[in-house]
Amino acid sequence: MRLILMGPPGAGKGTQASHVADHFGIPAISTGDIFRANVSEGTQLGVKAKEYMDAGEYVPDEVTNLMVRNRIDEDDAKPGFLLDGYPRTLAQVEELDGMIKFTGHELDAVVVLTVDPEELVQRLLQRAETDGRSDDTEDVVRRRQEVYSEQTEPLIEVYRERGLLREVDGMGEVDDVTERIFAALADVRES
Ligand code: ADP
Repeated sequence: MRLILMGPPGAGKGTQASHVADHFGIPAISTGDIFRANVSEGTQLGVKAKEYMDAGEYVPDEVTNLMVRNRIDEDDAKPGFLLDGYPRTLAQVEELDGMIKFTGHELDAVVVLTVDPEELVQRLLQRAETDGRSDDTEDVVRRRQEVYSEQTEPLIEVYRERGLLREVDGMGEVDDVTERIFAALADVRES
């Protein structure tokens, strides 16, 4: 199963990604988590990514694409994967198409979580207090929402045209959202 989980910052992608990936027995691959792990380990990739992340901007495509390509190549991702936070630009969509085609598979579905914009900012500011992520300050949170609208929202139409899109209401309790995602994916057959 090859899935993408999309949604604006604060939509709850990370939480849902791990539930959904467990259910299908595939790894959840979060570009944000991989970047953060690199930042805390002080790798070259982390140093490069940090300045963009702290500003709420996207890390350049060539850096991100290579990182995802390497991750997808690992053994645990051979049976499939759930991508959380990738692709986020049209160029990344094309790259991912190439990566998947190369393995002889197809993308099976794209789930997009929809959440009320003001609720998103509130969730992120609350998370800032509990998790202390350096990109959860109010200015950066607002910038991340803007970047999402400009660069990532257009991807929704691309996947809708391909017939892959499943829109899921991301408001409410975590478990309810998970159930909605399973229901939205019930008819998806692995390619
Ligand atoms: P959120 O969805 O809350 O913004 P993520 O953890 O998914 O959080 O991402 C955090 C940051 O990591 C992003 O703001 C961006 O700087 C960087 N990032 C993650 N995924 C990508 C991507 N696919 N392309 C470019 N930058 C990315």
